Amino acid sequence: MLDTATPAEPSHISRALNPLRAALRLALDLALPPLCPGCREPLGDGAGLCAACWSKLSLIEPPFCARLGIPFTYDPGPGLLSMEAIANPPAYDRARAAVRYDDIARALVHRFKYGDRLDLAPMMGRWMARAGSELLGDADALIPVPLHWRRLWARRFNQSAALAGVISSLCGAPVLHRCLKRVRATAQQVGLNKSERAENVQGAFKVPPERKADIAGRRLVLVDDVLTSGATVDACARVLLRAGAAHVDVVVFARVVAPLRTPI
Ligand SMILES: [Zn+2]
Repeated sequence: MLDTATPAEPSHISRALNPLRAALRLALDLALPPLCPGCREPLGDGAGLCAACWSKLSLIEPPFCARLGIPFTYDPGPGLLSMEAIANPPAYDRARAAVRYDDIARALVHRFKYGDRLDLAPMMGRWMARAGSELLGDADALIPVPLHWRRLWARRFNQSAALAGVISSLCGAPVLHRCLKRVRATAQQVGLNKSERAENVQGAFKVPPERKADIAGRRLVLVDDVLTSGATVDACARVLLRAGAAHVDVVVFARVVAPLRTPI
């Protein structure tokens, strides 16, 4: 009886086929139009979001809390703060986000972070630079929220550093990559409440002693992809201020926004 099973490729053949497979994959990637990260439909013009998903994105526009950037239901005039900013002021000074963290923003962030869609960084970074223009105009340097080295190794890139790179190219402030380190691997914040999140990131970040001179007296902007409770950027800001930074602001792509706030 004939053996119809495919024999394993001898290793020299397998080695020879690898570049061929890589070339084939590249050719397929070039032939197939990129998919919209929101709805997975092919994109006609090749970049960003399709028109339907674009219209569903919820950009955060004024009026919002001068401190936290949380949108208000009506315009109370310049400089007004939300209840949260007064009751529980963060270590950072101001935060701005490009969009609300809703289903479409979540899809974008997930494709970017876990789907190897680094090509989304320029679009997301542009929106962040626009939302944070006031803060970025005052900035001496940008600091991406760091990943622990084990997570960086698994994901192969730090999404916050990729976004900071795009923002830097638009606003001119340099990115400082080694001034803030995540020294403790923390559990994912998903599913934790506000106090658990703060506890989870306690002691997770550090400014290496040899880098303190780089941030001393400087105005910094922390860059991250998503702001949920703010515990992560708050922990980062505390550490940077303790190490001598003059001022810390925050720019994120998306922030969780509870129902619209009325200013007090
Ligand atoms: Zn779409």
